[in-house]
Order: sequence, then C-alpha cells, then structure tokens
Amino acid sequence: MNSTVPYVHRDFSTHTLENVSVPYENINLFTQDKVLQESVRAFGADHVCDQLTEFGGIVGQADYLALGDQANRFRPEFAPHDRYGRRIDLVSFHPAYHHLMQTAMTYGLHSLPWETKTKGAHVHRAALCHLHTQVEAGHGCPVTMTFAGVAALRHTPSLASTWIPKVLSRSYDPRNVHWSDKSGLTLGMAMTEKQGGSDVRSNSTRAFPTASPGSGQPYELVGHKFFVSAPMCDAFLMLAQAPGGLSCFLVPRWWDVDHKNPMELVRLKDKMGNVSNASSEVELRGALGWMVGEEGRGVATILEMVALTRFDCMVGSTAGMHMAVQQAIHHAAHRRAFGALLIDQPMMQNVLIDLALEREAALWLSMRMANALDQSGSESERLLARIAVAIGKYWICKRTPQHAYEAMECIGGSGVMENSMMPRLYREAPINAIWEGSGNVQCLDVLRALHKSPQTLDVLHQEIAKAKGSHPELDALLKTGFSQFKNLAVEDAAFEGRRWVDRMAVALQCSLMFQYAPEQAAQTFCDSRLNMDVAHQYGSLKRETPIAFLLKRYRVDGIS
Ligand SMILES: Cc1cc2nc3c(=O)[nH]c(=O)nc-3n(C[C@H](O)[C@H](O)[C@H](O)COP(=O)(O)OP(=O)(O)OC[C@H]3O[C@@H](n4cnc5c(N)ncnc54)[C@H](O)[C@@H]3O)c2cc1C
Repeated sequence: MNSTVPYVHRDFSTHTLENVSVPYENINLFTQDKVLQESVRAFGADHVCDQLTEFGGIVGQADYLALGDQANRFRPEFAPHDRYGRRIDLVSFHPAYHHLMQTAMTYGLHSLPWETKTKGAHVHRAALCHLHTQVEAGHGCPVTMTFAGVAALRHTPSLASTWIPKVLSRSYDPRNVHWSDKSGLTLGMAMTEKQGGSDVRSNSTRAFPTASPGSGQPYELVGHKFFVSAPMCDAFLMLAQAPGGLSCFLVPRWWDVDHKNPMELVRLKDKMGNVSNASSEVELRGALGWMVGEEGRGVATILEMVALTRFDCMVGSTAGMHMAVQQAIHHAAHRRAFGALLIDQPMMQNVLIDLALEREAALWLSMRMANALDQSGSESERLLARIAVAIGKYWICKRTPQHAYEAMECIGGSGVMENSMMPRLYREAPINAIWEGSGNVQCLDVLRALHKSPQTLDVLHQEIAKAKGSHPELDALLKTGFSQFKNLAVEDAAFEGRRWVDRMAVALQCSLMFQYAPEQAAQTFCDSRLNMDVAHQYGSLKRETPIAFLLKRYRVDGIS
C-alpha cells in the first residue's frame, strides 16, 4: 500500500497575519495624557507631577492592566457559613482585586485630602483616581466610600477619634476580623431598601437605643438593605428610623472580637457591570450601630458623604471615557481599510476627535470641582461645588454610555470581544449614572440647591462668565438663559428641569474649555455643543475643525 499523502500543495499556511493592531499597554498613563497634566498644573498641584508620573508608569504596564481583567473575570464569591455551620458572611475576591485595593490605599486614594492641608490635595487625589479607574472601576467603590465616609464621621467626635485614624491608614487589611485588630479600615454605605432608593425617607429599618439615645450612642437596628456594595468593608454608614426620625448610624461588621454583628448577607447581586465589586442584600437582626450626627438628621448627615461619592462618579466616568477613546485612537492608528490607516480617514477623524473632546471637557469640569473642594473655605467655592458637582455628576455620567459604545464601534468587531477591554467599559458606563442619585434625582437636587440658596446660581453664572466674549451662544446663555432659568415657575421647572440642567452643564464645560484648554479645542467643542436644540451625536463636527492640531493633542505616540 502506498503511504504517501496525496497532497498537491505543500504550503499549509492559511493566511499572512497583517494589518492587525497591538494592545494598548506598556504606556505611562500620566505622561501620555496632555489634558490631565495640564489640569493638574492649572489647579495648583504641579508639585505632585513627579509622583503622578511614577504612578502612571506603574498602572500602564501590561501586567498591571491585566489585573483589571482578572478582577472582573473571577467574580467575588459569597459564603454565608463556614464548613461547620458558623455564620461568617465571607466574600472572597480574586488576588487581582486585592492588588488593586492595595495600590489604591498605598497611594492614599481613600485618604489624601483628609491627611494633609497641602495645596491641591483633592486635585492630586482626583488625578490618581482618574489613572487608577482606567485600569479597573469596581474596586473604586469601597475606596470612594471610605474617602467620603470621613466627611460624615468627623462631626461625631467620639466616633471620629476612634475610627478616623485607622480609616486614614495607608495599610490595606482585608481580613474578616474586628476593626480593633486591623491596621487599616474601609467604609461602606447602606441607604437603599426594596421599597425605595432615591426616596430614602421611605426606609423602614428601625433603630432602638440600647441605653441613652443621641449622637454617638449605640442603637440596635432591625430591618433590611437592598443594596450594600463592598460588604467586606469594616463598617457602614446606614440610615434607619430612630424614635426621633430618620438617622444615620455607623454599623461595624463585627460586634466584638468574637462575634459578628448580626448584619447578615442574603445574597450577592448579579450585576451587568462593576462585577469585581461585590454588591449585596442584607438583613439586620439587631445589628449594633452608633448614631452619627443628630437624631432625625440622618439624610443631612449622610449627604455629606454622598456629595463626595457623587464627585467621584464624575471622575470615574471621565476616566472610563478616556480609556475608551484612547483604545479607539490607538486601534485606528494601527488599522488600515480601503488603502489608508483609519486614523487618516476623515470621517473616523471626526468621530475620534469628538470623543476626545467630550472627555477633555469632562475632565476640566471634574478637576475644576476638585479645585473647588480644595478651596471649600471660600463661600463662593463651596456654593459652586454644591451646584456644579450635582450638574457634573448628572451630565458626565449621562454622556458616558453612548461614548463607550461609539468608541467600541471604532474598533469594529474586535471591540465587541470579551478579551478586549471594551465590553467591560461599556457595561460599566451606565452604572455611575444610576447609583448615588439617578439622572432625574440629580436634576431635582440642582433645583433644590437653587431653591434653598439662590446664590448658587449667581456663583455658577460668575464661573461661566469668566469666558464671556469667547462665543456668541455662550454670551446669549449668560445674558438671557440664566434669568429664564431663575424665573422658571416651580411647576415648569419640575417638568423642564433636565433641559435646563443640560444647558448649564454644557455652558459650564464650554466656559472651562475657553478658560483652560487651547483655543482650537474650546472653539470646536463649543461650536458642536452649544446649540442645544439639536441633540449632539458623536462624529458630527463641522468642516472647520482643526483636525491636525486636535489629533496631535489626543494621540498617544510610541506604541508600535
Ligand atoms: C451597582 C449598584 C451598586 C449600588 N450600591 C449601593 C450601596 O452600596 N448602597 C446603597 O445604599 N445603594 C446602592 N445602590 C442603589 C442605588 O443608589 C439606587 O439604585 C439608586 O439610588 C436608585 O434607587 P432605586 O433603585 O430604588 O430606584 P428608584 O428610586 O425607584 O428610581 C427609579 C427611577 O425614578 C427616578 N426618580 C425617582 N424619583 C423621582 C422623581 N421625584 N421625579 C422624577 N424621577 C424620579 C430615578 O431617577 C430613577 O431613574 C447601588 C446601585 C447599583 C446599581
């Protein structure tokens, strides 16, 4: 029998691998980002650029970026009991998640502005968060809650003196033990119940004083919470109905060194995104909590925390936008179609520049708010942060999902694959818009701020007016738009409020672009966004766009 294989062709290669991109990695996420560098310098944190350069170099490495993928691919797991049946309420995370937490806490992403009165601490922290969130967003949840929780805790001296020093520790200690045995602590937040999330006044969890009532005193909490993210935190700022009304409590995970506090996890939520971060449902069976702030003033107390978590939502969504558009620009610079690189094709240039402009404006707004927080001793800066964080949280988070989708489309089919970062960025995109106050609730909060202190609108007007004379439509808004908004009847504002908050958001971004960005970027952004009667779609810039200048501004060189 003839054993020769009857092949005619001896070359079995199926194709030549060509015209494919390379991963966006091994880059310095700080030094490649001109806009971030400019914003850090503009808002008084020049002195931290060396540290940000070091940090940007670490987090842009391929093996560090891979932590983001691993932390999401291997989801947290929940064990209610140990093998003998003892209640442990343990959530286990992949080592990649712990690595991300460790870095965040080592660099003080949870603590910087509380540790030091150094100039620009909020700007410094926001820049670090912007860099780290590009790697992974989910771990940012406990980091931001720990940071923001201090704002609420510090008003109750007996709790502040025992908890805050350990909360500000740069040590990450994930062990499931009593807080007194740990070198560093994290904080969570529990407001939402089944019957109401936005409307926390509907909370049904009850709190009973164990001895004398009042601020700093222990209470027993009975009820449930429908959303408790990062349930491995060491304590939670929680709302419950005390005899004197809805109040805020600090509820530790452990009662004493030998006993868990009876705050029992029911299950982990099966979320569409943000999956590295565990979110849970809990039942409180007499869990011990200490009152934070005054009895009956729970909403006001916890809002001190929420104001800062909302600020972090702006920073986080801006970071997501940046990673998405950089992935798109990078891909377009390595992929050819119809005889030319995608990045050289005019319609693709329009989309990429437009996406990058959106992120640039989001960053200037976020960093200006960090700058306002740094100057919160000034009444006008405090009022500006009060109204413009609400506006920015609403607007930036709202603009992110479409941005993520459009960036994904620039990459084509490979952008849909789970082994790229794009599906994760896409699934992450709507989440910041929903938690910590969904869109309508944010806009109602803007109206509430205006109603309670009308000076907030004057402060916003002053900030936007710093760019007066830069653009006719901005001038028109300053001249007539503000007074129309101010004089809106209550029932009209209740229906139309969102339209007006949209306008204020865009006007503020335009003004900041004229104040801080190059003229070409500001002009292009404003020309495409200020006519609010036409909904802006990414990729709809006009022919006058200074393409070469803007592409150079946003393009990362040096990856081959
Ligand atoms: C991933 C994730 C993690 C979370 N983690 C936590 C956590 O750790 N702790 C915690 O306490 N909560 C957490 N939440 C809950 C979150 O804060 C709430 O889902 C959110 O506040 C909305 O509340 P809700 O789901 O009850 O919706 P609802 O309050 O029922 O709101 C539904 C919709 O109605 C709108 N709406 C509400 N009131 C009005 C009004 N007056 N006029 C017009 N529109 C209105 C809202 O904007 C929203 O779009 C988390 C949520 C998510 C998605």
